[in-house]
Amino acid sequence: MSEKKDEILYTYKTNVYLNITNACPCNCEFCIRRTTDKVGESSSLWLSHNPSFEDVKAAIDRFDFTKYTEAVFCGYGEPTASFEVLIKTAKYLRQMGIKTRLNTNGLGNLIHKRDISKEICDNIDFVSISMNASDAEKYDAIVHPVFGIKSFDAMLDFGRSCRKYTENVAFTVVDVIEEKEISECIRIAESLGVPLRVRKYSKEY
Ligand code: SF4
Repeated sequence: MSEKKDEILYTYKTNVYLNITNACPCNCEFCIRRTTDKVGESSSLWLSHNPSFEDVKAAIDRFDFTKYTEAVFCGYGEPTASFEVLIKTAKYLRQMGIKTRLNTNGLGNLIHKRDISKEICDNIDFVSISMNASDAEKYDAIVHPVFGIKSFDAMLDFGRSCRKYTENVAFTVVDVIEEKEISECIRIAESLGVPLRVRKYSKEY
């Protein structure tokens, strides 16, 4: 069965990651999908099909979580694109006592044409949103979202909306952008009451 070769769950350094979909409305300049299909011990993160919740649950049940307290939704795609599986999996992990983090491009509301932020924040312990740039044009040039120029504001709105439901939300930028640009991103994040984290760029991950 495809489930055997599909790497729904993988580890990298001290974390466990859940790769629940390859679907993504973006084509980011720095996306590792452009350069590799492997992360950590994985052999390939391309999936033969979008896993069902049962597929994901089976992968979780096979995995020994003894050394781990958190699982990160950060696949070779945008986790909110597989929204039902994301929420069911987060609920299942919470029942197991495993905390969850979502790494998202923040475009889930555009993908689903409705506000999904409350369901996300109610079920996931930490939400990390990629800001990537300080304005719509720069964002579009880096992220190449299928939704076009409105995506930047939608991403910020998603962060603003999440902040209504949880303190456990942050924007992120990768340290490949200029310091001035990072400062502007920090200013925008602060104006929304959301912290901003600067992530180190890695070709591997
Ligand atoms: S949003 Fe994430 S998965 Fe999608 S292209 Fe950008 S970095 Fe890659």
